[in-house]
Amino acid sequence: MPIVIYIILAGVLGILTGSIVNATVLRTKAGLPLMSRARCLSCVEPLHWFDLIPVVSYFVLKGRCRRCSAAIEWQYPAVELAVGLLFALFAGRILFGLGIPSFITGTEQIILFIRDAVVSVFLVIIFLYDFRFSVIPDKFSVPAIILVILFNLVLGASAFSMLIGGLAIGGFFSVQFLVSQGKWVGGGDIRMGLLMGFLLGLPLGMVALFLSYILGAFGGVVLLLGGHRSTSSHVPFGTFMAGATVVTMIFGSTLLSSYLSLLQ
Ligand SMILES: [Zn+2]
Repeated sequence: MPIVIYIILAGVLGILTGSIVNATVLRTKAGLPLMSRARCLSCVEPLHWFDLIPVVSYFVLKGRCRRCSAAIEWQYPAVELAVGLLFALFAGRILFGLGIPSFITGTEQIILFIRDAVVSVFLVIIFLYDFRFSVIPDKFSVPAIILVILFNLVLGASAFSMLIGGLAIGGFFSVQFLVSQGKWVGGGDIRMGLLMGFLLGLPLGMVALFLSYILGAFGGVVLLLGGHRSTSSHVPFGTFMAGATVVTMIFGSTLLSSYLSLLQ
């Protein structure tokens, strides 16, 4: 099959997965079971299957509930499209061999795609959850850390690089946590640092950490200007760390090599 077909299939898989991400975030917050029947959040009417088609249903319904006309949040199609784009980029990166670690061979490329897809689902959930509810639940960050370690070991990544990455970035936040007695960063940030370091190792983990601060600075200004946050309110740093980690998963090697070539 031509490469483009694989990329499209990955994108469609991502869009379908995106609707699971939306449901997971909102049901976890509402304390509902993950497998419960989908309902309108306003009129609590169970939704028909044809109103649950990712992206398509939102536009067919013009963003409103069929029964009560309550507005459906644009988060739904946005997240579905974003996860679709991520999966397509993960597949494209592997198929075009961009920044793929040298120890990845043959069928391991499929495992690498599964790792990227699974980990990115956790990262998008954390991105949304911290952005909307200002907390990074351990029930997402801890399983993500364990999965990352398992996947990387299966893929034959250097356990040493992984460990050093996790300790360096997790340690960076732990020190801040201890010095400020938990005022500057929270336990959730430490676990995100571990996730970032274990997933990317060094030096890519450092690229992601650096990007988190750049995204945080831009994002903080945008949130302030948009009136979403006041200067005193919580900056969702987990959101920026999750975003930076996903960007580094796709573009990290390219960013790093172009930066290093500038120095020569
Ligand atoms: Zn409704």
